Amino acid sequence: MTAGTADRAASADRAMAGMSEAGVRVIALSWVDNAGIGRVKAVPLARLPRLAVHGVGMSPVFDTFLVDDSIVRADGHGGPVGDLLLLPDLDRLTPLAAQPGWAWAPADRYGQDGEPYPGCHRSFVNRMVQAAAGLGLGLRMGFETEWSTGPGGLGGGPAYGLSRLADSGSYLLDIVDALTAQGVEVLQIHPEYEPGQFEVSTAPEDPLGAADTAVLVRHTVRTVSRAHGLRASFAPVPEPAGIGNGGHVHLSLWRGEENLMHGGTGPCGMTREGEAFLGGVLRSLPALTAVGCPSPASYLRLAPSAWAGAYRCWGRENREAALRFVTGPAGEAAQRANAELKCFDQAANPYLLVGSVIAAGLAGHEDAVHLPEQFADDPARADPAELDRLGIDRLPAGLDAAIRHLRDSVVLRKAMGDHLFDALLAVREGEHRLFAGRSRTETVEATRRRY
Ligand code: GLU
Ligand code: MG
Repeated sequence: MTAGTADRAASADRAMAGMSEAGVRVIALSWVDNAGIGRVKAVPLARLPRLAVHGVGMSPVFDTFLVDDSIVRADGHGGPVGDLLLLPDLDRLTPLAAQPGWAWAPADRYGQDGEPYPGCHRSFVNRMVQAAAGLGLGLRMGFETEWSTGPGGLGGGPAYGLSRLADSGSYLLDIVDALTAQGVEVLQIHPEYEPGQFEVSTAPEDPLGAADTAVLVRHTVRTVSRAHGLRASFAPVPEPAGIGNGGHVHLSLWRGEENLMHGGTGPCGMTREGEAFLGGVLRSLPALTAVGCPSPASYLRLAPSAWAGAYRCWGRENREAALRFVTGPAGEAAQRANAELKCFDQAANPYLLVGSVIAAGLAGHEDAVHLPEQFADDPARADPAELDRLGIDRLPAGLDAAIRHLRDSVVLRKAMGDHLFDALLAVREGEHRLFAGRSRTETVEATRRRY
């Protein structure tokens, strides 16, 4: 037994005692595939010591599953042969408050030789976090989760209406209680714009923690919804006629205890390093769209004047800019200044998304990129000549255009590595083909219950 496996065995013994005390009998190990679907294998608690060291087997074919569970073949991907090991992250093993008897852990994927699998999304995030750490930089990130229970669901009434709490108060309370019991810090929860639509946002964390939390939040909302007789949809557009569900990502860049989004000489008080990082993200945004808006359905949501951030520009507190800069309230700005990427939705694999955003930001940091002038209105209402002058363009209007940017992205290919990048590209291209010629309603119906 190596030192690493001895440590894991000892941690598993400790975790086993804790889980048993919490009444846990089965552990759900989850990962998210390139199509953005959370997948699972479950193992009885008694197997945890073995599982923590030797993992549970799973096929690499999941790398090229599409949203409808069909499989595309690409060079070296999608075949029936091979096996990987899923190993739980014991630090994140959590009893599920809304599913007594169950615990959840995000899983890392390894080859049978014990080496990290090049297609593992969590190790991609770790590599990007380490690349940042190599420069003395750290990141704090967090997701906003929007979902819809459908127009006939809970909470009909005015957008953001207090009256909606009369129907939905006990439902939202159960969500907050479950998340809190699971160690997730809730910042806000409220009825959203559409009838039956809600949002919860959670506290910033390290990037891997933020992606794990996004998975856990969604599972918790889904489970509590079922207990209330509801079905939650996290799809980019849950109803053909309505506003979409975003999956906005907040981020701040840190050097030790110093928030580089604040206290500098750059625009809106950013430091030069903070500006260069955000400049890199803005520069790569068209390619990042293929990661963060990965479904043909994503482009039904990513429309102008819908608070989805359909234009590649930035602006302080501008909810129509893909990159909204938040300086934070006086007194707390040094802690709270951050950038919000509004254009992304929850068809995205959260691990791929945080890793790709870090890669784009680090490339900007390396090139000392400057941000362009900020924009302080809805670009859809501006004179196109003015947008041209400022270099502001629409983000891709369809998955095909986003795929072209992804294919050309040297930054993302290098960061992900060929194995992961090629599988992702094959999935994106496969979904583009799968949905070709479908109407808006057909696309919404095919994705409503998938994410
Ligand atoms: N639902 C909007 C979206 O699709 C976002 C609304 C908001 O800004 O909270 O992203
Ligand atoms: Mg919202």
